[in-house]
Amino acid sequence: MNDYEFLCPPRIAFGWGRRREVGALAQTLGRRAFVVLGSRTLHKNGVWAEVSAALQQAGVEPVLTTVLAREPEVLDVDDLAATLRQRDAGSGDLLLALGGGAALDLAKAVSALVTNRHGSSVRDFLEGVGKGLQITDPPLPLLALPTTGGTGTEATKNAVIAVADPPVKKSIRSPLMVPRIVLIDPELAVSVSPETTAWTGMDAITQLIESYICRFAKPIPQALALHGLQLALPMVRQAVRDGKSRPAREALAHAALLSGMALANSGLGFAHGVAAALGVYAKVPHGLACALMLPVALRVNRDVAEKPLAELARAALPVGMHSDSAAVLALIDHIDALCADLKVPAKLSQVGVQASQLDDLVQGSRGNSMNGNPRQLADAELRRILEERL
Ligand SMILES: [Zn+2]
Repeated sequence: MNDYEFLCPPRIAFGWGRRREVGALAQTLGRRAFVVLGSRTLHKNGVWAEVSAALQQAGVEPVLTTVLAREPEVLDVDDLAATLRQRDAGSGDLLLALGGGAALDLAKAVSALVTNRHGSSVRDFLEGVGKGLQITDPPLPLLALPTTGGTGTEATKNAVIAVADPPVKKSIRSPLMVPRIVLIDPELAVSVSPETTAWTGMDAITQLIESYICRFAKPIPQALALHGLQLALPMVRQAVRDGKSRPAREALAHAALLSGMALANSGLGFAHGVAAALGVYAKVPHGLACALMLPVALRVNRDVAEKPLAELARAALPVGMHSDSAAVLALIDHIDALCADLKVPAKLSQVGVQASQLDDLVQGSRGNSMNGNPRQLADAELRRILEERL
């Protein structure tokens, strides 16, 4: 066996309705909680009021700092970090992120920037564009309370931040940035729209498959990915059809958490590589971009990664003792049918991509995710594959 390491949040609390325990959990991290909300809906539907009351009851002062409903940009992080510094954020304080992947990413980046004052902007820490500064001081402790099952960012050590010039998304990354407590209450997702449920569900499925077949795959993430796919594949349609279904919401929330732990420790592949570029150049939401690219990724890798893809198929589908190639075909057919049912567009032009953007998309697809893809593609081949899907 190869050497490996495995990193994950030190404390995970999972369960239906457990958001009510947020006060007791936050209290173990500090007495003042700077809160990042992921949408105004959390105000309207009473979730924020509920969380805020639970914090106060436990003797934790909630300080609502910002509501961010889109993917965080450099200025969002810098502004919020400056606000926290003005308020002398430090020992005895924590950050609480309540929302989807965007709110969690913002809180993660801010938690690190507040305490690492050797950089003037988060940009200085971003991989590939900044000064290459490293996170050396422990960030403010972060309690992550995700409301949409899907991205898995609650379990990872990086935050993805959009840069304006050049227009790219890059990560600030450090093992110190893993949230200290992750509280997952699948009941919070009952109000998530069918469309967002479909996309985030497909994102989790893509993360499970790509981390499993990744060039840097490792044994614990693979065990998690097998289990996650078993849960998510049969339940995603039901969660979309009936958002209040407790078994479906629990399965997807748990699968998303597993996918986050898997990808954080292994890596991803083709679909996530291209999805990053689609987000930057065509503003395609992350989950939709992953869903659109997953069928392509499976076909790109079917020969090089036949064995691991067959293992996934056998774990999650009733394919029995068929040959590896037949099992992989069954998985591809299953994903194609799922995408069709969930009305995922099959063509890049349907999400606004134009032929003139192909070269940008190829360049924008390069990064950590594409590096992990089982089959390594030259630019010309990647361009041809994307062109076929226009
Ligand atoms: Zn993803």
